[in-house]
Amino acid sequence: MSYFQTGEEVKLEKAKITLNDCLACSGCITSAESVLITQQSQEELFRVLHENKMLKQEEQKVLVVSISPQSLASLAAKFKMNIHEAGLRLAGFFKGLGVSYVFDTTFARNFSLLESGKEFVRRYKESETEKTSLPMLASACPGWICYAEKTHGSYILPYISTTKSPQQIMGSLVKDYLARRLNKTPDHLYHVTVMPCFDKKLEASRSDFYSDVYQTRDVDCVITSGEVEKMLEKEGTSLIDVEGQPFDHIIENSSYDLVNHQGGGSGGYLEHVIRHAAKEMYGHSLQHVEYKILRNQDFQEVTLELEGKPAIKMALAYGFRNIQNIVQKVKRGRKVPYHFVEIMACPSGCNNGGGQIRPAGEETPKELLGRVSELYSSLKTVEPNDVTGIEQLYTEWLGGSDSNKARKMLHTKYHEVEKMTNALTIKW
Ligand code: SF4
Repeated sequence: MSYFQTGEEVKLEKAKITLNDCLACSGCITSAESVLITQQSQEELFRVLHENKMLKQEEQKVLVVSISPQSLASLAAKFKMNIHEAGLRLAGFFKGLGVSYVFDTTFARNFSLLESGKEFVRRYKESETEKTSLPMLASACPGWICYAEKTHGSYILPYISTTKSPQQIMGSLVKDYLARRLNKTPDHLYHVTVMPCFDKKLEASRSDFYSDVYQTRDVDCVITSGEVEKMLEKEGTSLIDVEGQPFDHIIENSSYDLVNHQGGGSGGYLEHVIRHAAKEMYGHSLQHVEYKILRNQDFQEVTLELEGKPAIKMALAYGFRNIQNIVQKVKRGRKVPYHFVEIMACPSGCNNGGGQIRPAGEETPKELLGRVSELYSSLKTVEPNDVTGIEQLYTEWLGGSDSNKARKMLHTKYHEVEKMTNALTIKW
């Protein structure tokens, strides 16, 4: 019998709110940001698709969808198929709805990895004179960037790599390179990305990725893996019943195969940066990257030893508990024993993003995550430098890797956000 029936006093358990709960609830998101998030949904995408069909052909926008490999893995796990099949069928689904081009954001990640590697070597060399060069903190996770800008501001921002995330480099490729290739202005293309988390919607809405001239964003709408599942439901179909179509290559007349990079479900930033640094700085080809687990699976370190001495040390820190550990040391001016840290807001990284499809039936979240990670890792891995089209684009599109255009298209800036003071101000 409950308290209401007996009138007996019952001592309730103390409510506990963890830092993760706090950040996950999005309560700290401003109302302007929540408007931007709700503007990006599957309903909005259906509206755009419908309105576009109503226009005369010459007035129609070119619709483009770029899919993240983590979302592909999530959908492949949901519909119990391999990742290649899921990719083909998903491309077929979007093309059936009126989308002209379907890309894989892994292609843009090649640039993101290459630029992160180069940036690290440059910062390492500058670190004797420039105090905030190291540790370089990875920049691909908007959940982490949002937290750093709102909570730690100028103490932390100079340490964050300026390299854009794969989503935003895909945005530059679509709205700049593809638009020119098609002889269109950027506002004549509507670019949708499919991502494993809601934070990517906020990233796409940043003013840094908005063109005042054309009044358009590099990424117009972000939908999550779970929202794609809802779109399939709304269309009354299952991925199993959709006919496959190939992915497109951003370069004309080239075919595209799904591939991946070495180093885990969050993009492999640590692995690429350490391999590149070992080669560039010490002429050493690193064959195998050995991780040492520290306090938990989400906090691991890698040490490159040369002649018996640690030469470069890097870490991955996933989830806010581990991120705090690094950030507080940097902020208080204490020595951080790492030259680079791959920071990701989600525990277990991007395969476990908040926008991924939830488990159904008896399956536990852990079991589903295991299947998603396995599918993600089943793709053949490549070195970003060896990928067809990358060198060509550095030359033809960007005019060289050190050009102003390369900096504009592949790098970004961060901004300190003034803290709001109200009764709910939280002390981090
Ligand atoms: S770690 Fe989580 S929040 Fe960050 S990019 Fe990956 S899925 Fe999104």
